[in-house]
Amino acid sequence: MIYLDHNATTPPAPAVIAAMLPVLSSLWANSSSQHGPGQEAKRALAAARATVARVLGCKPVEVIFTSGATEANHLAVRGLLAATPPERRRVVFSSIEHAGHLRLARALADGGIQVGLMPVQGDGTLDLRAAAALIGPDVALVSLMAANNETGALMPVNEVAALTQAAGARLHVDATQFIGKQSFVFSTCGADAVSLSAHKLQGPKGVGALLLRQGVEFAPQTLGSQERGRRGGTENLAGIVGLAAALELLGDVAMEAARVATLRDALESGLTRALPDTYVWSQDVPRLPGTSYLRFGQLSADVVLQRLERLGVAASSGAACSSGGSEPSHVLTAMGVSATEALAAVRLSLGPSSTLDDVTYLIHALPPLLAPLLREKMLTAP
Ligand code: PMP
Repeated sequence: MIYLDHNATTPPAPAVIAAMLPVLSSLWANSSSQHGPGQEAKRALAAARATVARVLGCKPVEVIFTSGATEANHLAVRGLLAATPPERRRVVFSSIEHAGHLRLARALADGGIQVGLMPVQGDGTLDLRAAAALIGPDVALVSLMAANNETGALMPVNEVAALTQAAGARLHVDATQFIGKQSFVFSTCGADAVSLSAHKLQGPKGVGALLLRQGVEFAPQTLGSQERGRRGGTENLAGIVGLAAALELLGDVAMEAARVATLRDALESGLTRALPDTYVWSQDVPRLPGTSYLRFGQLSADVVLQRLERLGVAASSGAACSSGGSEPSHVLTAMGVSATEALAAVRLSLGPSSTLDDVTYLIHALPPLLAPLLREKMLTAP
């Protein structure tokens, strides 16, 4: 199989699995227990926390382990909001946050909190002028992703951090797609809280972290003594050790980013050369190195994904599937893309396991399958 769905999840690295197995088999004691095995688990937890802090440029006390980025996002927003004075009751999200995070925005609005949505432009970048107009002194919190999971477009975190600071508000950044693909240092990133998830960077699923700047007022949402009272619940030690191992494996992020970007660019130019109706969203703006979000004319993504499946290629559409059918991507809709074009969106996302052979195969094998369909579609178009 050729795996081109790294933005959905990455295959776990063998070194990550090797680090986790002894924890599952031997280090299973509760790290809150006073006995020897418990204390051994506690030491392993502290060591993993120190590794995470070192790689991400924060203090160990600033790391709160969670079950992944969805929980970290919720914890950040609800935890920061609950600790903000009542005169600040507005929160601002971007309109292209992860679907789960936008559900939280709707839940907050249903609960009587004013929610503003920062719009994006047609190229997938944030409309900074509109953002500036939304971020005022009544804002408690701004929540912005560092990179979009569909287009790969990078968001102007530094500029939004400056606006947020000037307004005296807090900034939460969902860096789930960013960390591991771009260089990241928490202490200088300008955010008060940052979410990440292990399974996007060759780690296991069901574990992640919220980095919370020391000294920032925060109200825990899941009560318990763990994580210094900020997130209760017995820690997923094997997962946490896996997250630390995955972060340690990152090495030279810029070099890997350059390698993956070269593959992605070769993929896009090969496909565009063979199929001139190919359109790539956010191609000309700063974006993640491995993300290619494209459509082939107006060929439905379902049809393209079937052909990819036939070729043994795993990829994603830009549509959210529900039992009743497919909804066009909220990201593309926010960019002003029509429903027909949005339902043609296919995301090819490369990552650490991608090779030049994968790309070469795809640019030779896919066009002959799609070209006749595109010709047919042109002839039958109204
Ligand atoms: N935020 C972004 C930007 C994501 O891409 C994802 C995963 N698709 C999440 C949050 C959710 O992460 P998790 O699966 O760890 O809950």
